[in-house]
Amino acid sequence: IWSEALQGLEPRLDKQTFDMWLRPIRLASIEDDRLRLHAPNRFLKEWFETHYLALVLDEIEGRQGRRFGVELEIVEPAEPAKAPAASSTETSIAQSPAAQPTVTLRRGPEAPTGLHPRYRFDSFIKGASNELAASAAMAASDAPGTRFNPLFIYGGVGLGKTHLLHGIGHELHRKDPSLRIVYLSAEHFMNEFVTAVRNNQFDEFRARYRKDCDCLLIDDIQFIAGRDRTMDEFFHVFNALYEAGKQIVVTSDRVPADMPGMEARLTSRLNWGLVADVQPPDLETRIAIVQAKAERDGMELPAEVCLTIAELVRSNVRELEGALLRVTAFAQLRGVAIDKAFVESVLGKRRVDKTPITIEAVQKAVAGYYSVRISDLKGKRRHRGISRPRMVAMYLCRQLTDSSFPEIGMRFGGKDHSTVINACKRIAALQEDDEELRGAVESLRGQLAS
Ligand code: ADP
Ligand code: MG
Repeated sequence: IWSEALQGLEPRLDKQTFDMWLRPIRLASIEDDRLRLHAPNRFLKEWFETHYLALVLDEIEGRQGRRFGVELEIVEPAEPAKAPAASSTETSIAQSPAAQPTVTLRRGPEAPTGLHPRYRFDSFIKGASNELAASAAMAASDAPGTRFNPLFIYGGVGLGKTHLLHGIGHELHRKDPSLRIVYLSAEHFMNEFVTAVRNNQFDEFRARYRKDCDCLLIDDIQFIAGRDRTMDEFFHVFNALYEAGKQIVVTSDRVPADMPGMEARLTSRLNWGLVADVQPPDLETRIAIVQAKAERDGMELPAEVCLTIAELVRSNVRELEGALLRVTAFAQLRGVAIDKAFVESVLGKRRVDKTPITIEAVQKAVAGYYSVRISDLKGKRRHRGISRPRMVAMYLCRQLTDSSFPEIGMRFGGKDHSTVINACKRIAALQEDDEELRGAVESLRGQLAS
């Protein structure tokens, strides 16, 4: 079903996009209604997740008539023989930037940047929510190892921490191509460490991170909390670099003091420099981000459209990017112009914002709409004025929440799952030619999604 779906999508996406982001994703297995997918590396995984996953799932749903869940794992492809760690030359890195998250930038006209090419300062939109972190990142790359050392950037997912971290790498490299910049995730750091210990290559490991490094950029440090030996090693790396006046930048999903399992001496060091947060962007920033991304992709979006997307998607920038891509991809596929109504239909259908819709919320909205009591929805009365709203509520619960039929039944006063299934079928069928019902469902859907 995977290759079928990909084949279906192939003609509709441009080839480069397809080859770059979709082709490398492999279907490992199907378990019940979950697809287990393998991505060769983190970038691809994240990129695919945020930009194409929804599209592919929609395609599969269209073909199979049901929706699959997804587990996306990073599994490095087996074919290419692993290069011995000791001889990690510039060229081998240059050839596979995306497949090799550890990056050592070295002198050279075409500097191998395994840093994400798009994660630069000039594509980062500053706003009140990220101002401190962004300014500090820029300052740290103006004068590395001096003012903000270490620089610790924290905040929720999709708010630009990794982007800023890469931005520092790019900027430092641009200013001084001879700087040896090492970027990697804490998880990768741990893996390297474990491998080095196992293979007796600890000297190389030590040289790589403690000596041959002018700037260390570590993403998602929270990962090593509780991993004693890795923390210990990182502590020594930190000290060596810090004493040598090298810049250290670390990101995390929370403040140093709030990481259970993190060694106290490490926590205190992470606090030595500047601790800066990134917060969810406010409306103005979200609009600016949508505009910037659209412009970058060579699209002209009416101001009203940017506004609508920014209003509908509030949680984080990654979701915002995903929403924009969804809108533009759908518009392309259907060959229609993008206007406010179109955006609402694409984004309203499934909430892009991660705050999930709850069964309670559906019940409340439906009860309000039909002026019935919630207890009636949960009760047993079969009067049409009540059974109709009840069925609509069950139908919407199934459509808008992740709840199973039995679960919905439970929450409607302990009804059997077959009752819920029948209600969903009834409402789906009735909507075909009952315009009033269709209007009610759509209006409730819109109300719940906003
Ligand atoms: P985090 O590491 O905090 O989870 P990322 O840095 O991976 O988040 O950001 C998620 C996506 O959002 C990336 O594609 C990034 O380029 C984009 N992004 C985040 N913040 C901004 C911003 N202020 N301006 C432009 N793009 C942003
Ligand atoms: Mg990140």
